[in-house]
Order: sequence, then C-alpha cells, then structure tokens
Amino acid sequence: MRKPFVAGNWKMNTDSHTGVNLAKSLASGLSESTGKSVDVAVIPPFVYIPAVVEAVSTARIAVGAQNVYIEEKGAFTGEISAAMLKDVGCTYALCGHSERRHVIGESDDLINKKVSAVISGGLLPILCVGELLEERKAEQTSEVVSRQIKAGLAGLSAEKVSAVTIAYEPVWAIGTGLTATPEQAQEVHALIRKILGEMYDGKLAEEIRIQYGGSAKPENASELMAQQDVDGLLVGGASLKSDDFLAIIQAAV
Ligand code: PEP
Repeated sequence: MRKPFVAGNWKMNTDSHTGVNLAKSLASGLSESTGKSVDVAVIPPFVYIPAVVEAVSTARIAVGAQNVYIEEKGAFTGEISAAMLKDVGCTYALCGHSERRHVIGESDDLINKKVSAVISGGLLPILCVGELLEERKAEQTSEVVSRQIKAGLAGLSAEKVSAVTIAYEPVWAIGTGLTATPEQAQEVHALIRKILGEMYDGKLAEEIRIQYGGSAKPENASELMAQQDVDGLLVGGASLKSDDFLAIIQAAV
C-alpha cells in the first residue's frame, strides 16, 4: 500500500508573517492520527524555509523547497544546493515544476541533474511532469509525459529512484481552475507506472507515489485520490488557505 502524500506548493506567495501563520495553523489543525496516515509537506519560498520548519516542528509536516541547484557548493551566485536545504530542515525538493520548465526555461537535462543532485544531497525529489494544452489537444500527452519521465530519471539506479515522488501536473490545469477529470488523471498515472515498470521493475513501479496536481481543491480532492494510481496531490492555490489545505489532507485519509 502506498501512503498518501499531499504537498502544498506556496510558489512565490506569502511573506514572513503570513507564511509562518499559515504554517502554524496547519500544524495546529493537523490531527496526530491524520498526520500518521498521510505524508504532508509544505513548500514555501526559500527565504521562509527556516521559519516554516520551526513553525511546523510540533506536527507531522515536512518542508520542501521549490527549486534547487545541481552543484553542491562553490561559485554559483544566487543558487541554493541540496545540502543547504537539508541543513535548514528540508525533506523534499520540487524538480521540473511546470513554471520552471515553461516560464524559466528549464530543460529535461537540467531537471535530470536536479533530481540526481537532490538524491545525492539526502533530500527526496518530487519530479513534476505534464503536458501543455496544445499537446493534449494534439493527442501528444503520452509522448510528452513519457519523454519527461525517461529524461528526468535518466541514469538513476532503481535504488535512487525509490526516493522519488512523481507529480503529474497537466499544465493546462495549473492555476487555471480547470482540473483533469479523475479518469484523465488515472489514465496518465497508469501510463507513468507502466513506464516505471519498463524502466525498472514492477515492484518499484508499484511502490512509487504519483501525485496529481492542477487546481486541486477540497471539492475535487476525494474523487481524484479515489483513483487507483493517484497517491496524493500537489496543491498550489488551495494550499495557501489552511482550512482548504487541511480539508484536502483529510480527503486523503
Ligand atoms: C502547482 O503549482 O503545482 C499547482 C498544482 O497549482 P494549482 O493547484 O494552483 O493549480
């Protein structure tokens, strides 16, 4: 059985005050029993990570980073390494979020190096994949997702890949209010599991968690997570409201 995993990507939102308040209200609102049956993470902007780590320290809530650099240390002005993120209490790091692929211009190759650096640095990567609207309309979803999975995990051993969570996030559903139907999500999640089985083996493919992301909210969380291959959610907008995020976590129980 895969343990559900719900993560909240705050993107470039909150300030030090509202971020800590959000983290504190999640920590006080998450019951011990729910925290035991669902893995929960919040993913704040870099600069608020230490304060958020402190604010959630009383609860079973992990903290992640939205980005990471591929090198361990050195002359890379403005970048943050996996070791630094671990040092300040992070557990997870997003790799290849659609905003980094399509707004910042990250390539599959760079994302692959990030996944590898995250694992080597002792963190757990969340590898995000997903097709653009025009790619879905052109019936290229399988091809795009397959390429992103194979390129994102290229060169990684089965042992390393067991640290990875995949997040399927159709780009047309992120921040748009449009959500993939549970059937659309399940179809792509099953495809991802099949690809993992072909790249590694069936056991590993069965063990890896695959989150769905794209306008997830309390109203659609249960039906999405009821799908056989949907193991949790990566939540953007709705993770900024503690009541909504707690309701989504509850839906995973
Ligand atoms: C995200 O940023 O990963 C995301 C899924 O955003 P939203 O829930 O706002 O669509």
